[in-house]
Amino acid sequence: MITQTTSGNRGLLQAEPLIFETGHATGTGVDLPAPKGTANKLGGLARKAALDLPGFSEPETMRHFVRLSQKNYAIDLGLFPLGSCTMKHNPRLNERTARFEGFADIHPLQPTATIQGALEVMDELAHWLCTLSGMPAVALSPKAGAHGEMCGMLAIKAALEARGEGQTRKRVLVPESAHGTNPATAVAAGFIVDEIPARDDGRVHLDDVVAKLGSDVAGIMMTNPNTCGLFEPEIKRIADAIHEAGGYFYCDGANYNAIVGRVRPGDLGVDAMHINLHKTFSTPHGGGGPGAGPTVLSAALAPYAPLPQIVIEKSGGVRQLVFAEHEAELAGTGRKPFGRMCAFHGQMGMFTRALTYMLSHGSDGLRQVAEDAVLNANYLLARLKPHFNAPFGGPKNEHAPCMHEVLFDDSSIKPKGVETIDMAKALLDEGYHPFTTYFPLVVHGAMLIEPTETEPKRELDRFADVMIALAERVNAGDVEHFKQAPRLAPMRRLDDTRAARQPKLRWRRGDNGAEAAKHAAE
Ligand SMILES: *Cc1c(COP(=O)(O)O)cnc(C)c1O
Repeated sequence: MITQTTSGNRGLLQAEPLIFETGHATGTGVDLPAPKGTANKLGGLARKAALDLPGFSEPETMRHFVRLSQKNYAIDLGLFPLGSCTMKHNPRLNERTARFEGFADIHPLQPTATIQGALEVMDELAHWLCTLSGMPAVALSPKAGAHGEMCGMLAIKAALEARGEGQTRKRVLVPESAHGTNPATAVAAGFIVDEIPARDDGRVHLDDVVAKLGSDVAGIMMTNPNTCGLFEPEIKRIADAIHEAGGYFYCDGANYNAIVGRVRPGDLGVDAMHINLHKTFSTPHGGGGPGAGPTVLSAALAPYAPLPQIVIEKSGGVRQLVFAEHEAELAGTGRKPFGRMCAFHGQMGMFTRALTYMLSHGSDGLRQVAEDAVLNANYLLARLKPHFNAPFGGPKNEHAPCMHEVLFDDSSIKPKGVETIDMAKALLDEGYHPFTTYFPLVVHGAMLIEPTETEPKRELDRFADVMIALAERVNAGDVEHFKQAPRLAPMRRLDDTRAARQPKLRWRRGDNGAEAAKHAAE
């Protein structure tokens, strides 16, 4: 089989070097007359050498970016099974509203009188986030899930300080199965992480939490449904125990997709929870694209919500944004904001998309989002379970359903010489972005698959057929097929470890981008 072509181009797809390698300082897409009569006002500070930015004609520019875009796997191309990430279809209606001039072309420093409509969108989004979560307040400005975690933990810190316990309550309980951002956030916010060990059933047990409670506990960070794709049945009792011990309950709400419209986190005793708008309420993400992590807060934490906050003036019903500069306006309202999360108000484009998504689905539609997400994951569980080991659906728990994502491990294929990484690479050749590999860490060789609710049965079957065919190939002993994969991707196996340990973050003339990317590809 041909795996290398002489040009590096392959099957109508052109190879594309780095923009710096092909661009040239004199290249340009415009033809303007030389400026007349502009005296140099830089004194001795004018640059002596050329800036060396890559220049291109317009068609070259188009080709560069279109070629790059063809290397990108996208939800609009096919099922994107990346677990924990909720890669779901983004309705084009969202895009339409987000591009309305009144939302897309405004500036955060515009006088508020000129952006009343945008403020109304933010206010209404806040209203629905509070209604759906059963929580009294929300901070809209955090710009990602992890940023929302930081917001929630800083609110907890502010509440503890207000109680005079800022110095004594430093310990935060975090289950072993948590997303890495949870312990990282707790530490960055000045807390000490105390891990709750994993149990065989993939769930957090009340006893394990109670055993760790004490007067130095600030709170707990739990995910529900958790990162193993399982609902935490003891969550309410755990929340009660934490509160009784004087701590707060942070819930990582990245998996809210599975329960939206069905469960109100406020009813479970949650004090703070970030909602990844870019997961639960569509809005495109990935590849470093925009996110938004509004954080809902309980009555106990609401007073500490960060600025800016939208307040509606009593006279005339005009909406105002309150920043630190006019903090005096909050006097008498009982609000004691802990500060602010970012320069301005958060991601307006994401707010508009999320509200569009909510309103176009309605309450029945949002409930169906959760139900279909869970149904689709369970369909994949049922089809793939005969071929891969499901650690939490095993013999003891024959019919245990999962939530919105399904977890397998490589224990049934590893003895035959094929590991999770090899399955992931073989999927690339089959036209699919891999599932999430080696996460959650509590399961060895984890393969976490989240199909999301927007996949029709036909697409689920196509994906399941590929997974089953690969499992059969393992059983047939064709280990080499997996070790050689990917054969058809633009790059073969990359040296991830070396890339992480010795990242090459700067390009210098003479560097070879393709070589740098390949490192130990051969
Ligand atoms: C995605 C995710 C996060 C972090 O969200 P970002 O928007 O990527 O910062 C945190 N916890 C879990 C469980 C997640 O899936």
